[in-house]
Amino acid sequence: MTSGKLFAAGSLAAAILFTLCMQNVAWNIQAVKAPRAIEPGSATKAPSDAIVLFDGKNLDEWVGRKGAASWTVKDEIMTVAPGQGDMYTKRKFGDIQLHMEWRTPAATKRKGESKGNSGIKFHSAYEIQVLDNYKNQSNPKGQAGSVYKQHVPLVNACRPPGEWQTYDIVFRSPYFDKDGKRVKMGTFTVFHNGILVQDKVNILGRTNSNRPVAPDYKQPFFLQDHGSLVSYRNIWVRELKRAPLD
Ligand code: MG
Repeated sequence: MTSGKLFAAGSLAAAILFTLCMQNVAWNIQAVKAPRAIEPGSATKAPSDAIVLFDGKNLDEWVGRKGAASWTVKDEIMTVAPGQGDMYTKRKFGDIQLHMEWRTPAATKRKGESKGNSGIKFHSAYEIQVLDNYKNQSNPKGQAGSVYKQHVPLVNACRPPGEWQTYDIVFRSPYFDKDGKRVKMGTFTVFHNGILVQDKVNILGRTNSNRPVAPDYKQPFFLQDHGSLVSYRNIWVRELKRAPLD
């Protein structure tokens, strides 16, 4: 075969392959249900399908362990009131996407795990740590972006204390059988300041003890009072369809 004929045969084969691929793409477009369109948010604006838990105005969505929510709200920011206890969501959640912004105090002489400590405890049991780890080393399994005592973050994406930082977290709830025995682990995916720090890691169990976890699919989460003046703003949740058991 001459080189001209060879080139022509190759071109024909490529054209046939391209046509087949395009048919396949067209078929897939028809067969796969298109995702819902939503208006995307930004660092300071919640998306249109979010449940806003704190927009700077009040603590109406929150409740303290002992009663009314008691953290400080000022300048559209909520701040831990040390000694007043953790702040629970009034709503209960299963699988969610959570967005929040947090800031550790700039002026503090504390070190290690005492420096700007707070956290988010999903189902009141599994903590994603909030901590000032900017040039402040602490136990890697307890630093910012860790699943506390379980998974070290992939990178340390901390900004300096006093600056606002973001968490975008996907929490997938564990499954329990009717006897309260866990039959499937939950997972966390975490972005810290837009950087992937937990990549769908298994939640091994309750963060701090071996006490049994309530098996309910929907439960509150809370923000931790660890005695540091950590602030939060722009907190919203998108409820997700539950991940399948298998
Ligand atoms: Mg903590």
